Amino acid sequence: MVDLIVVGGGLAGLAAGYEARKRGLSVRVLEAARRPGGKVGTVREAGFVVETGPDAVVRYKPWALALADELGLGGAVVGTRPARPAAYIHVGGRAHPIPEGLNVVIPSRLGPLVRTPLLSPWGKARAALDLVLPRGPAGDEAFGAFVRRRLGREVWTRLAAPLTGGIYGGDPEALSLLAAFPQLKALEQKHRSLILGSLKTLRRRRSSREGGSLFASFQGGLGALVEALAGALGPALTPGVRVEGLRRTATGWRVATAAGALEAPRVVLAVPAPAALRLLEPTGFPALEALAKIPYHSAATVTLAFPTLGLPPRQGHGVLFAEGEGFAARGFTWLDQKWPGRAPEGAALARAYFSGPAAEAEEEELLALALADLRRLLGELPRPERAWVGRFPQGMPAYTVGHLERLRAIEAAERELPGLALAGAAYRGVGLPEVVRDGREAVARLAGDS
Ligand SMILES: Cc1cc2nc3c(=O)[nH]c(=O)nc-3n(C[C@H](O)[C@H](O)[C@H](O)COP(=O)(O)OP(=O)(O)OC[C@H]3O[C@@H](n4cnc5c(N)ncnc54)[C@H](O)[C@@H]3O)c2cc1C
Repeated sequence: MVDLIVVGGGLAGLAAGYEARKRGLSVRVLEAARRPGGKVGTVREAGFVVETGPDAVVRYKPWALALADELGLGGAVVGTRPARPAAYIHVGGRAHPIPEGLNVVIPSRLGPLVRTPLLSPWGKARAALDLVLPRGPAGDEAFGAFVRRRLGREVWTRLAAPLTGGIYGGDPEALSLLAAFPQLKALEQKHRSLILGSLKTLRRRRSSREGGSLFASFQGGLGALVEALAGALGPALTPGVRVEGLRRTATGWRVATAAGALEAPRVVLAVPAPAALRLLEPTGFPALEALAKIPYHSAATVTLAFPTLGLPPRQGHGVLFAEGEGFAARGFTWLDQKWPGRAPEGAALARAYFSGPAAEAEEEELLALALADLRRLLGELPRPERAWVGRFPQGMPAYTVGHLERLRAIEAAERELPGLALAGAAYRGVGLPEVVRDGREAVARLAGDS
């Protein structure tokens, strides 16, 4: 018998296992797939380093990089290559630079936003109305409605929707403002105007980012963090073992797998919500309905390797597509231009990101869609030399309006079943930093810290 069983060896589960070890607890991390890491899918092949899943961690959410430091990976952290402008949005048939100093949708500097060709003079004038509009009601609302109410339709379709369309699953319109972008609601509640509020508060934060890139990864890609965690866990991590059943016992929990059963006084469920739901159904968990109501959407990536010879020039780190531009993908990242050391000399990497129904296509179709989009964007292309596809059917949770109520119900239910904690992207943040924090905090809760 161990002190703790972690179900799921994605980044949340690995971080939970690591935290348990650090606290001197004996732990087993059971991962269904043959390789740990969950959505993180770094492939190293023929001199290429390709991310089929997540591609970066944001530096201003410190938890993943702090964990990397603890694991001795601090020296392997890499920032993005300098590029100005770094990213573009394709609107009205052309790619325009994203105005500098933009945080989600709000500017920390006005100049770049006033000058951007992404918005029409009318769109800019409508956005400026934010300066005089009254404060909206307290409480939650849909992200799309909020941005249109404060800044107008153009800011929504040309900036906010493309910028946020891939972060949470599927359609950014229906996202819960309070769950996905609480900082925006807080700005409005505190300062009334988003523009005035952000100029005051973000100016300070921006200066702390200068001199380094906003995004980070590791030499060898994000897989380096998974490998360091797996190394720290050693035999406590067992890949290739799917948990098939969960049952309460007099002293804790019994976890059934095809290879036999394990018992422990504490369990962290670090699996996506639908998998948690299946396991919790027979346990009397009182918030099954809340778990069932967390919607999931599909995501996919296609990475193509080209010879640089004959490849049309690509600008910055990548481009996002506004809706209605006729592309199937949400955007492209030029991985070799974004990160150092990702492609051998003479080769380039273009990664397409798909989200929502388009991401549900089969591998061959995704490849064809990515190539067609790229041709439309760049013109004639040399033949791709290699391709990698990452498919995540129903793989991305969406924090839609009502998410915080669902979360409260799940947290209350968790407290009713001693020795149980739920962690991962379904609950308190979908990014890698947040799932690392969530895995570690789940163990802290079980250890009685809070
Ligand atoms: C294409 C894509 C791009 C992304 N880009 C970024 C990015 O650039 N930056 C960023 O911060 N985030 C990004 N994300 C989000 C981030 O990758 C995920 O939210 C995060 O990796 C989820 O971690 P997790 O541990 O909660 O879940 P997962 O990674 O889903 O791990 C859950 C694990 O549980 C296992 N499991 C399920 N059921 C069982 C069972 N019954 N028994 C045992 N094991 C089980 C699964 O096999 C899986 O390994 C991206 C996601 C996708 C899909």
